[in-house]
Amino acid sequence: MPRTNAQHLDVAVLGAGFGGLGMACRLRAEGVRTFRVFDAAAGVGGTWWVNRYPGCACDVPAHLYSFSFAPNPDWTRRFAPRAEIQAYLERVARDHGLAPHLELGCRIERARWDAERNLWRLDDVHGRRWTADVVVSALGGLSRPLRPDLPGLDDFAGRILHTQAWPERLDLAGRRVAVIGTGATAAQVVPEIAPEVERLDVYQRTPNWILPRPDRPIRRWQRRLYRRLPLVQKLVRFSIWLGSELRVPGLAWSNRLAAGHRALALWHLRRQVPDPELRRELTPDYAIGCKRVLRSSDYYPALARDNVELVTAPIRRIENDGIRDADGRLRPVDTLVLATGFRATAPVPKGMFIGRDGTDLAEAWAEGPEAWRGVAVHGFPNLFLLMGPNTALGHNSVVLMIEAQIGFVMNALAARRGGVLEVRADAQRDDNAWLQERLAGTVWNSGGCSSWYRHPVSGRNATLWPGFTWTYRRRLRRFRPAAFERQAPGEASARQ
Ligand code: NAP
Repeated sequence: MPRTNAQHLDVAVLGAGFGGLGMACRLRAEGVRTFRVFDAAAGVGGTWWVNRYPGCACDVPAHLYSFSFAPNPDWTRRFAPRAEIQAYLERVARDHGLAPHLELGCRIERARWDAERNLWRLDDVHGRRWTADVVVSALGGLSRPLRPDLPGLDDFAGRILHTQAWPERLDLAGRRVAVIGTGATAAQVVPEIAPEVERLDVYQRTPNWILPRPDRPIRRWQRRLYRRLPLVQKLVRFSIWLGSELRVPGLAWSNRLAAGHRALALWHLRRQVPDPELRRELTPDYAIGCKRVLRSSDYYPALARDNVELVTAPIRRIENDGIRDADGRLRPVDTLVLATGFRATAPVPKGMFIGRDGTDLAEAWAEGPEAWRGVAVHGFPNLFLLMGPNTALGHNSVVLMIEAQIGFVMNALAARRGGVLEVRADAQRDDNAWLQERLAGTVWNSGGCSSWYRHPVSGRNATLWPGFTWTYRRRLRRFRPAAFERQAPGEASARQ
């Protein structure tokens, strides 16, 4: 019996970044043929396709910020620039034969669980309908830009752009530019545009801890070596992973164990910023690691340029032609760059996922996202998440987390045996109680700062995994039947 006139899929994957592509590689490798990867963008790459601001690069070394099953001996720099990461992901898609499975330029606007038929109904932006037994959401936690709630922003007569939507070939020569925000993105943009613009005002609300960025080219002989002896590259990857894991005690156990990093950051600041007043303004007053620690060796020098000013007075309002600070001073601006980050604790738009009983995931997550082990949500059968709640990292490569989640989804697909899996409410509750207990003593919750890791109203840390990557991987290694209710195929839903 035809289910509907919509096209039916075994698995619908939403998002074609690291998560979606990695999932697709595994689905293909294990013989699942009827699946599609949907993405609103015209190309693959996810965040690396979308974010095109000058200086965009990854601050996790490239040998670790890549799939374990698709090593790239040809990285040209220790910290890969955006275009190289995107090219890498394009290559992965090509090498794994994903082209027939990609639906690019195709945003899924809504996914609704049909409890009568036990499947997901999806509507895409072109008005087409799809059905799927299983949905894997790989939308990413940092994909919804945060537009700050600043008085007068709508009155500004010049150009406003968020770093996530940087226009191609934007010429800033001769422009008076203001950058609002001083996080990881601003630290990459500011040094790139400072030499080009006439004037640059950088509006800082909170200073960040910044470590030097030991970037360097990877020489041709090294790349040849990695190609000929893949084990050497594996060792390099392992050493980066281990070095990153060693940061966990200073973040999750006792911040005193991060004293070395703190001293290094203060030394970096002293060395790069001779002016004591500017240095004072750039010195954080909270524990290192509470906000994401930045890595930059050219941000401080950019701030010391004659055409750049660090503005630490709070913004009173945005006016037609500039920004007025709390001291009453108006600085003229014609281009306003919002480096204000993302709505990390509201990663899903309203109306996007409608689960069993018509529950809207965005509403269920009104006080911050919550899931079981970051991958499954009670009330949302046969939906699996990649980079879901509490699986982001403050210390290591998220690709490791993504791969663990993909492995879990494959195990869940096998355990499903054509039926419906839904995580139990008590399993999810217990998991979150455990998580929040673990998070309570960490620097992310008690380091004296506010950050995108925590929900702005509830204060709950809904984003970070509070430990080593290997403990998370161990927790996801096997499917846990006791945490799920399974409904066999054809069996009427007990909940209807
Ligand atoms: P972010 O870390 O959230 O920083 C946003 C900045 O905007 C902060 O300085 C914040 O100030 C400021 N801000 C927000 N609202 C404001 C307001 N109303 N008035 C004044 N200032 C305001 O965002 P991001 O820099 O885009 O980075 C987000 C995350 O993306 C990073 O933490 C990282 O995980 C990822 N990222 C990674 C890389 C990489 O190399 N791997 C590069 C870029 C981004 P407060 O600090 O006072 O809130």
